[in-house]
Amino acid sequence: MKYISTRTGEVINSSYEAILKGLADDGGLFLPENLPIIKFSEEEIKSLNYKFVAKKVISSIFDDFTKEEIESAVEGAYDTFEDEILPITKLNNNYIMELYHGKTLAFKDFALSILPRLMKISIDKLNLKEKIVILAATSGDTGSAALSGFSNVEGTEVIVFYPTEGISEIQRKQMVCLDAKNSHAVAIKGNFDDAQSALKNIFNDDDLAKSLAEKNIRLSSANSINIGRLVPQIAYYFYSYYELLRNGEIEESESINISVPTGNFGNILAGYLAKQMGLPIDILICASNKNNVLTDFFNSGKYNANREFYKTNSPSMDILVSSNLERLLYLIADKDAEKINNLMKDLKEKNSYIIDNKMQENIKDFKAYYYKDDEILENIKETYEEYNYLLDTHTAIGLMAAKEYNSKNKTLVASTASPFKFPKAVSEAISLEIYDDDFKTLEHLSVKTEIEIPQILKDLEIAEVTQKRVIDSNLIKETILEILGE
Ligand SMILES: *Cc1c(COP(=O)(O)O)cnc(C)c1O
Repeated sequence: MKYISTRTGEVINSSYEAILKGLADDGGLFLPENLPIIKFSEEEIKSLNYKFVAKKVISSIFDDFTKEEIESAVEGAYDTFEDEILPITKLNNNYIMELYHGKTLAFKDFALSILPRLMKISIDKLNLKEKIVILAATSGDTGSAALSGFSNVEGTEVIVFYPTEGISEIQRKQMVCLDAKNSHAVAIKGNFDDAQSALKNIFNDDDLAKSLAEKNIRLSSANSINIGRLVPQIAYYFYSYYELLRNGEIEESESINISVPTGNFGNILAGYLAKQMGLPIDILICASNKNNVLTDFFNSGKYNANREFYKTNSPSMDILVSSNLERLLYLIADKDAEKINNLMKDLKEKNSYIIDNKMQENIKDFKAYYYKDDEILENIKETYEEYNYLLDTHTAIGLMAAKEYNSKNKTLVASTASPFKFPKAVSEAISLEIYDDDFKTLEHLSVKTEIEIPQILKDLEIAEVTQKRVIDSNLIKETILEILGE
């Protein structure tokens, strides 16, 4: 497969290179030159399982990987999940796609468990002698999923920086209790912005990159713009659709909708690509919290990040600039890279841009809604009372949007995190006691709802802290060098 950059049409000749490169030299994002159409035979549907679908979907795009390479990456990645990789729960006309049965109990595990394996294969294939060092700044979910995904993957080292402020006890423990030689979590004094801007300086430090290159070290990032994160996410839409078909919930070729709680626009974009690849998805529902920049965009054609930033009870969706939206823009502009380049210039200079009528015509199959914190808690309570089913705050947003659009089609709602990952908000929603200690809140929640705590969290409570570094943000470079043994 060849890959094209969204900004100038720069072409990359192999999946291996695109995965290792992450971002194009022109600042754009990579997209496959063509998207294959995928069909499942009756036989394949009858014996459907997640790994099979993942192999079929991923190899249709990463078609230069050998069968064995895809096989080993998929098996290794999804062996880290619970036995049932992707359960689907029916709530009336909506089907909750539980994407949280991986190691860190959030949907990012679907991509971050396989990306390191794809990177390792790519390094070997291109005969690079380099060690890949993944750096990430995190406000929670990405960091723990990256640490867990890269842990013990040969030829890689992962360093995650998290803020001392504004991170939950569970999220912190998921990072600092990880015991793998190549995984490092470092606390940065301050908030997420402090950690993020310190890391940005590192990526822009040419001297550092040069001196590391001499030592055969290449810095890379695990954020969601990497095509190696996006492609594996397409698979769960195919799997879920055919699982509904296999169970007689839908008929052959029946159209469904999808509703996705959205932040950086990676998850819903994977659904859009699935649609381009022949999956009968009708409407894509983009669900947001009070940071409603995408809602306004889909309703008006104007993307405007000049607005207040809110901290909400769905923190993984608190974002003002959704990087993956650029890929959608490119596709709806009929692959006119120059147009995208101009829009991205506007975004950089004015923090906003407006798409033309033709592009707007092409996003008609997206609907967008947003919800405030108290509405979200109310929905968690309603859903619990009606179905005895617990939603986390992010998933509740997806379900609310599905209900608001109120289509005759059945809707797949992406459930992006386990309710036990956000015990305080969930307990507040159903009027249970909240304690200072997250784990105590968790236990109380489990006792009262009679829903079992995931084993991973039980283990986490008693896990030993192995990562104890706490630094000032101006010492980030020294710390990286020290960890890399320089
Ligand atoms: C990352 C995340 C999201 C947002 O997903 P995007 O692909 O960035 O749109 C939603 N919910 C949870 C729990 C997440 O961790």
